[in-house]
Amino acid sequence: EMLASGFGIIGFSWICSPACTELEVVVMDWLAKFLHLPQHFLHEVEGPGGGVIQGSASEAVLVAVLAAREQAVRRVQHSHPELTESEIRGKLIAYSSDQSNSCIEKAGVLAAMPIKLLPAGDDFVLRGDTLKQAIERDVAAGLIPVICVATLGTTGTCAYDDIESLASICEEKSVWLHVDAAYAGGAFALEECSELRRGLERVDSLNFNLHKFMLVNFDCAAMWLRDANKVIDSFNVDRIYLKHKHEGQTQIPDFRHWQIPLGRRFRALKVWITFRTLGAEGLRAHIRKHISLAGQFEDLVKADERFELIAPRALGLVCFRAKGDNEIT
Ligand code: PLP
Repeated sequence: EMLASGFGIIGFSWICSPACTELEVVVMDWLAKFLHLPQHFLHEVEGPGGGVIQGSASEAVLVAVLAAREQAVRRVQHSHPELTESEIRGKLIAYSSDQSNSCIEKAGVLAAMPIKLLPAGDDFVLRGDTLKQAIERDVAAGLIPVICVATLGTTGTCAYDDIESLASICEEKSVWLHVDAAYAGGAFALEECSELRRGLERVDSLNFNLHKFMLVNFDCAAMWLRDANKVIDSFNVDRIYLKHKHEGQTQIPDFRHWQIPLGRRFRALKVWITFRTLGAEGLRAHIRKHISLAGQFEDLVKADERFELIAPRALGLVCFRAKGDNEIT
């Protein structure tokens, strides 16, 4: 953090600091491989996918919500030329679960698009059938579904939404599927947690906070897009003073089109130093240690008659309470 800030980088564009952009391309691919993400999220693989570092999960979710909104507006303008733009915008609707983080609802407020918080099951999991019912009801009422924000590792209990069944509905209904894995994403790196990655090859975008599970200090939120052009097309606003002769070349993306601010911090340096210092194995060992500590704590709770678990332990999170009246807790 001291180096990243101390160099005084303000990466408005590639030419302001080629290292700031190029190291980000490198470390986002390292990270994608470390987490076993689908190939199409890598910069080095030909295609429109890639990763970017945002300041927070909230920003990543907002970027996904705004891009999905703009794509939906353009699609409907094309298929229904009789509708005005404001008529279309007034009909947009988005979805998430009632267990999702507050930043999802906030993204809806900022995007001026209601986000319905659908009821998760008793196990705190949102599934495709609930989404399907909501979409069908809304379409029948004349609304236009835009995006579903699923969560892998909810804030309350670290529950995992059923990405496979949600993806099937989103594909059928042309709805953008974003996954917020702000906390749990680090566990994608572990073979024993490979189940968590099921369905990720079908999502449009996802985010994961390195400042939660990966020993990178705040702020550092990774985001991957299956088709970054959808974001770039939605946010691209240029001025003469931002142009440079290397624009548009592959491997030197102008990340300003992938985010809310114009200037950028040299966050990639923090990721680079963390990987170079600890190595992939060191980081895996760190995550495993958190999980095993939670396992030990879970055993202590189970062995103590005064307490009970209120949800299954998940990764490093143990949710428990005092037995009896809620007042005691
Ligand atoms: N998503 C989940 C699942 C979270 O647990 C949190 C924070 O705890 C967030 C999003 C928000 O993260 P940020 O502070 O990076 O916006």
